[in-house]
Amino acid sequence: MSGIIASGRCLCRNIQYQIEGEPVWTGYCHCESCRRMTGSVVTNWLGIKDTDLVFTKGRPAKFKDAGVTRGFCSRCGSSLTYEATSFPEYIQVHIGTLDNPNTITPRAHVHFAEKVEWFDVNDRLPRFEGSAVGEGVDWKKF
Ligand SMILES: [Zn+2]
Ligand SMILES: [Zn+2]
Repeated sequence: MSGIIASGRCLCRNIQYQIEGEPVWTGYCHCESCRRMTGSVVTNWLGIKDTDLVFTKGRPAKFKDAGVTRGFCSRCGSSLTYEATSFPEYIQVHIGTLDNPNTITPRAHVHFAEKVEWFDVNDRLPRFEGSAVGEGVDWKKF
């Protein structure tokens, strides 16, 4: 264990968690499945080693589809986590569910090819057409 770097929860507080290791990657995701799961045209993820996410209250319900498992609160519906069989050593947590989302900054855009046309991105962050995670991208460069 390397110390708690962040904590978070769902909207209704039934699910609470701690993150006990440094981020592997962070970014905005524009993919269609995140869009449908969250109802928002862009979401944000903090990717960590799966062993670094510790639930201190409750456990997410799971929805599995096409190699992806999404965790959410079965009481309030908050979208919380994303796991993919293509990068099984990581779990992703929405930055927006952190108790202090100001502490973790997105460092890239992923699935930029699926971005909604009217959503205007003016930052200078790297933009990946696809996932970039698990594709050998060196996130420490950003
Ligand atoms: Zn909840
Ligand atoms: Zn996505």
